[in-house]
Amino acid sequence: MSVAVIGGGYAGMAAAVALAQRGIPVTVYESARQLGGRARGVPHNDTRLDNGQHILLGCYHHTLQLIARVGGNIGQDFLRLPLQLTLHRHFELQAPRLPAPLHLLAGLLTAHGLSLAQRLSAARFMLSMRRNHFSLPLDMTALQLLRRHKQDKELVRLLWEPICISALNTPVAHASAQVLLNVLRDSLNGTRTDSDILLPRIDFSALFPERAAAYVRQRAGTVLTACSVEAIIPHDNAIELLTAHGPQRHSHVVCAASPASAARLCRDIPQLAPVAAQIEALSFQPIYTIYLQYPEQVQLPQAMLGLDQCFSQWLFDKGQIAGQHGLIAAVISAEGRHQELEHAQLAQKVVLELREQLGITESPLWHQVIAEKRATFSCTPGLDRPATRTPLPGIFLAGDYVMGDYPATLEGAVMSGLQCAENIFLQRPE
Ligand SMILES: Cc1cc2nc3c(=O)[nH]c(=O)nc-3n(C[C@H](O)[C@H](O)[C@H](O)COP(=O)(O)OP(=O)(O)OC[C@H]3O[C@@H](n4cnc5c(N)ncnc54)[C@H](O)[C@@H]3O)c2cc1C
Repeated sequence: MSVAVIGGGYAGMAAAVALAQRGIPVTVYESARQLGGRARGVPHNDTRLDNGQHILLGCYHHTLQLIARVGGNIGQDFLRLPLQLTLHRHFELQAPRLPAPLHLLAGLLTAHGLSLAQRLSAARFMLSMRRNHFSLPLDMTALQLLRRHKQDKELVRLLWEPICISALNTPVAHASAQVLLNVLRDSLNGTRTDSDILLPRIDFSALFPERAAAYVRQRAGTVLTACSVEAIIPHDNAIELLTAHGPQRHSHVVCAASPASAARLCRDIPQLAPVAAQIEALSFQPIYTIYLQYPEQVQLPQAMLGLDQCFSQWLFDKGQIAGQHGLIAAVISAEGRHQELEHAQLAQKVVLELREQLGITESPLWHQVIAEKRATFSCTPGLDRPATRTPLPGIFLAGDYVMGDYPATLEGAVMSGLQCAENIFLQRPE
């Protein structure tokens, strides 16, 4: 048995670690010079940024366990914040130290910025979803669901829309209500720490993929970077890969490439053409991260802070999170008017917002805008996502877009990789 993993993002490296752990020979082929894919460290001047500020939730158990398995220390690698949502000057929810889901209900009932009727309405919505096990007979948009449950416009804008956009990267009017409920179920209805927000203190390549590569190599596996796979050719007794290092033969392939690349690789294999068509039918949403390096003394009132009705949706103080003093990251998820602006104009808008909203009068020393135009798939209702198994028994798909409970997230990507490894393990010769 010899397994090829195409793609060294979180999904591919999760599969590789799980295979290597079970003693199955594995080779990772990654086309880029570095590992991490859509969650990777990016060197800039004399510091390291991420291609986008990410957050993890306490309920991302598979990802957190895997980071620990390859040598990470969850306590040190992350700044852990108990559930809190703050939209500066407009809304504040802080969950008290009570067992879940009481912490959320108490948080909703004491939230600042909402009327008593709105707070009761939000709590009633959560209780009603809980009674139905967070499951809908038929998917619909998140906005339709919220309207059915009498969540008024302001409540949607201040509470549900920010949660939906950050979790699904899809506007509430288009987002899948069922997938939103899956996230609410796992984050808000499990144990209290499941709703914690985890902000990494190190970059996303260092956090898991690089440690995973070391783990795989220590177990006789191979991890190749700058080595793209150009084609997958199934034969009767093996699967051939055409790679930048020449043709290679393996018994199994986990295709953990990004959706566009996975579709291209599957398209030329007749049995996988329907899978390619399924992937090609997905549409995508952007995420922009605007990094602003201010003088070191500049700080936000808290490590993570939302803004209401601004270009910047969430602000992160990298000084408080990762010791990168004066560095502020503004995140804008999903499609919107910001896409019409040049990067320099967008950075300028964010600088103005920081001045007007937070009184930061200093000028940034530099800015860097990172626009990930196809950051995640649009998580719309009833989406037909491809399965991990394909019609060819030796070829599996991993990635955040593969069928699962979660939207495009690190946890969804990791879970799909682990599932591929499990399927391959079950196929091993006795
Ligand atoms: C800006 C941004 C912010 C985000 N924020 C969050 C967040 O806060 N929380 C969260 O959970 N998720 C977030 N996400 C989503 C998360 O990053 C992704 O869901 C996850 O990284 C996807 O991992 P993956 O392994 O499925 O795919 P990818 O990361 O796309 O990995 C695929 C890999 O395959 C490689 N590849 C492609 N073609 C080939 C080929 N032919 N041969 C070899 N290699 C190939 C690519 O180079 C890449 O490294 C965010 C994403 C972005 C872009």
